[in-house]
Amino acid sequence: MSKSKLDFYNTKNTMKKIEHIGIAVADIEKSNKIFTKLFGKENYKTEVVESEGVKTSFFKIGGNKIELLEATSSDSPIAKYLSKRGEGMHHIAFDVDDIFAEVIRLKNEGFIILNEEPKKGADNKLVIFLHPKSTNGVLIELCQEVV
Ligand code: ZN
Repeated sequence: MSKSKLDFYNTKNTMKKIEHIGIAVADIEKSNKIFTKLFGKENYKTEVVESEGVKTSFFKIGGNKIELLEATSSDSPIAKYLSKRGEGMHHIAFDVDDIFAEVIRLKNEGFIILNEEPKKGADNKLVIFLHPKSTNGVLIELCQEVV
C-alpha cells in the first residue's frame, strides 16, 4: 500500500472497533444457559431479525458484545452455515461511522461485498457483510448505529 493511501485512511474514520462477535448456535435457549454460566450473567436482550431468518441473543462483557445466532427458518444463512460447518464462530462485526463510504472504499480495494445496499440488522444497526472468500475465510460484518 502506498504512503498516500495510508495517510488517507489515517485521516478518515474507517473501522472504529470490534462491535461484537457472532456465534452460530443450533439451539439458542440451550446456548443462553451455557453462556450465562460462562459469563456469570444473563443476556441483555434477544431479537428476531425476520429478514435474515435469525434469532439473536446479546451478552455484554465489559465493553464487548457477543451475539448468539439461531436460524428461524431452514433456508436462512445461519441454517446453511450450521449444516455446512456446525456451531461456532460465525463473524466479527466492526463499528463504522459511515457504512456507505466504507462500502465504496472496500469495493475499490477489491473486497467482495455480499449486500452493497446496507440492510437493517439486529440491535438497531445498518449492516453489510464481506464475503469470507475475500477476507481469509472470516465473515466480516460492518455495522453503523441507526440514530
Ligand atoms: Zn452480527
